[in-house]
Amino acid sequence: CGIVGYIGKRDVAPLLLEGLQRLEYRGYDSAGIAITSPKTPGLRTVKAKGRVRDLEAKVPARFKGTTGIAHTRWATHGAPSDVNAHPHLDAEGKVAVVHNGIIDNAADLRRKLEADGVEFLSETDTEVLVHLISRSQAATLEEKVRETVRLVEGTYGIAVLHADFADRIVVARNGSPVVLGIGEKEMFVASDIAALVAHTRQIVTLDDGEMATLKADDFRTYTTEGTRTTSEPTTVEWEA
Ligand code: GLU
Repeated sequence: CGIVGYIGKRDVAPLLLEGLQRLEYRGYDSAGIAITSPKTPGLRTVKAKGRVRDLEAKVPARFKGTTGIAHTRWATHGAPSDVNAHPHLDAEGKVAVVHNGIIDNAADLRRKLEADGVEFLSETDTEVLVHLISRSQAATLEEKVRETVRLVEGTYGIAVLHADFADRIVVARNGSPVVLGIGEKEMFVASDIAALVAHTRQIVTLDDGEMATLKADDFRTYTTEGTRTTSEPTTVEWEA
């Protein structure tokens, strides 16, 4: 339902929780957050059924990072629960994915992954994305995500964190909105500009079939085939 992400220098958890609150008007049944930082690699996650404030209450005092992704879920596959809330992680806890939309061939992909010995933790369609990215042999996170989205049918806006590539967030869009917010030595991503405009008015809207890499001081957009696309930020007017 709702996605927010940030990479920069600021304390990321409060920023993401505030972003999620700005998306609450869309409705949701659970929420979650995954963070990392270049100084303390590895991902940390908190998820909760219920409201964003229920999630906030579960976030430990020392939940510090400068990069993160967060989600409000409107369940389509699997009941609303802590476990089915996003972000979803692989068994090693290295890959975290938040997803809006529906993966139509999730049951088929899941069967194949399970036949290969993958254990699923949730009932969501989203979790296939995590395992496909995690198992990809490609050298870069961008290629891992590209390989994965090419196997997938359905709609998605996704944001991906990987502990081995903690200097970036990779996002992709097909049929579910993804907008980038371009800041000064910080970048935002969201499913809705309402979550961004408190921080920047410089916006890049992804097209279907488009992906992006966000680093603290840089971003680039490209197609799922890997061809670079042009993406001049536009300034949005917004009544606060
Ligand atoms: N299909 C996914 C799920 O059920 C994502 C739902 C959403 O867009 O929030 O977990």
